[in-house]
Amino acid sequence: MEALILDIQRMSTEDGPGLRTTVFFKGCNLACGWCHNPESISFKPDLNWYMNKCINCDSCKDICPNGVLIKDESGVHFKDRSKCLTCGKCVDECPGAGIELKGKKISVEKLKNELLKDRAYFGHDGGVTLSGGEVMMQPQAATELAKLLKADGVSVAIDTAGCYAWSLLESILPYADIFLYDLKIFDADAHKKHTRVDNAHILDNYKRLIATGARVWVRTPLIAGATDGEDNIKAIAEFLRDNGLPERWELCTFNNLCKDKYTRLDLDWEYKAHEKTKKSYAEKLKETAQKYVPCAVYSGVTTE
Ligand code: SF4
Ligand code: SF4
Repeated sequence: MEALILDIQRMSTEDGPGLRTTVFFKGCNLACGWCHNPESISFKPDLNWYMNKCINCDSCKDICPNGVLIKDESGVHFKDRSKCLTCGKCVDECPGAGIELKGKKISVEKLKNELLKDRAYFGHDGGVTLSGGEVMMQPQAATELAKLLKADGVSVAIDTAGCYAWSLLESILPYADIFLYDLKIFDADAHKKHTRVDNAHILDNYKRLIATGARVWVRTPLIAGATDGEDNIKAIAEFLRDNGLPERWELCTFNNLCKDKYTRLDLDWEYKAHEKTKKSYAEKLKETAQKYVPCAVYSGVTTE
């Protein structure tokens, strides 16, 4: 069995308890406008272009069998990304490491062995986090990986948005030590507007998950104009209070540090100029949240 992964990130302190190694699966069924991992959304490898390494030789454009690349005064661009065959010819031809295909298939067994190399620093509370994209869009590979890691005594965290049939979550439940569960927007229409999907599955799966007694951290990104309204935080807080409290509720402040990722994908990003969350506002939202959910905290960088 194989998994399509984007990357492995080591020594992470932001993907669950303790020190963790995070493996990012490729492919997501949501389309949140503020996504910090745009290169993980597509279900196939993506071309990334690095302007600072490109020597403008045209080799990639000339070798492409499908006319995917064009060039103008600002450099290489994607004429029609959907036509890319992910053949990698442009990457092989590039003399300057200016272009890279991100996303690779790897056997689950090999991936497990790679992840186990880090076990010395996991300590008591750390381990491996399966993230994405949406890791549960590759349910068999994710469940098999979690099973193998668990059998080797490694703590497994599942970072998920929960937007799929309950049976998928249920099948990984025996091998997961903790879930990092995204609740972004409570109002169904607003959820659909900002993520392109309905939140009925997400809310229902949360209720089922918490009822199993699973260890759960809920995470809510604070995005101006989309998720950070006091009414949204209050609505999620009431939902958690009424359906079962998580161990921790993290309000994740916004930054635009990922904007270069969008540039490398030749995409415009509507949030590129958005300011970081103000500390005073994060504090205010935390206080609102804590009226209903005492374990609420905020995390990430803020501005004064
Ligand atoms: S991966 Fe292949 S099809 Fe895609 S842009 Fe490069 S050469 Fe063209
Ligand atoms: S082959 Fe590499 S260096 Fe040449 S134009 Fe393409 S990205 Fe730039």
